[in-house]
Amino acid sequence: MRRHLVEQLRKKGITDENVLSAIGTVPRHLFMDSGFESHAYQDKAFPIAAEQTISQPYTVAFQSQLLQVKQGQNVLEIGTGSGYQTAVLTLLGDHVYSIERQHQLYRYSMRQLPKLGYNAKKIVFGAGYKGLPEVAPFDRILVTAGASEVPKALLNQLAIGGRMVIPVGIETQEMTLIVRTSAKEFEKQKHGSFRFVPMLS
Ligand code: SAH
Repeated sequence: MRRHLVEQLRKKGITDENVLSAIGTVPRHLFMDSGFESHAYQDKAFPIAAEQTISQPYTVAFQSQLLQVKQGQNVLEIGTGSGYQTAVLTLLGDHVYSIERQHQLYRYSMRQLPKLGYNAKKIVFGAGYKGLPEVAPFDRILVTAGASEVPKALLNQLAIGGRMVIPVGIETQEMTLIVRTSAKEFEKQKHGSFRFVPMLS
């Protein structure tokens, strides 16, 4: 079923072989509530605890492809959720930090990820808007909830040359890629419309 999902993602335009291989490896069904396990390899978002969602595999693949993670880079994810996207990131890079503000999800992912052999550097319970100043700068920052605006602290924590992928908007979100080209300059690109649960204050 996982191989079939990977083929579907290829047809939808995902070309990054590292991303496809990660999606072909991570057991998505082990990051979902038991009632939904049988749907795990459909290309759909599903409910998880605390009224949140596990992102659609296409969205996970699309964001990961835009992010271009390489081994050795410091990576920050905002919105651990189920931990599924975090697991994908740990296969792409070896220095992954992730922040989750719902305690129930934080507790779950913090246990589930190492149990399955996906070792993030740290899963943090807290408010993603502030980033992780004690670990910054980050080469890559991925936001997996819809942000009404790009948080300043996250821009400040992006390394020069670094990339941030963040869905920006209220009802629907524009997938936005931000590249920090110098201490003061950022380039923005829009990559289509998506729908995420809101980034909470
Ligand atoms: N990548 C996750 C996506 C979960 S949905 C997955 O595929 O399972 C978005 C997640 O962001 C939710 O778990 C939500 O609780 C979390 N979130 C929302 N606002 C946040 C914030 N300000 N800081 C950290 N996490 C946040």
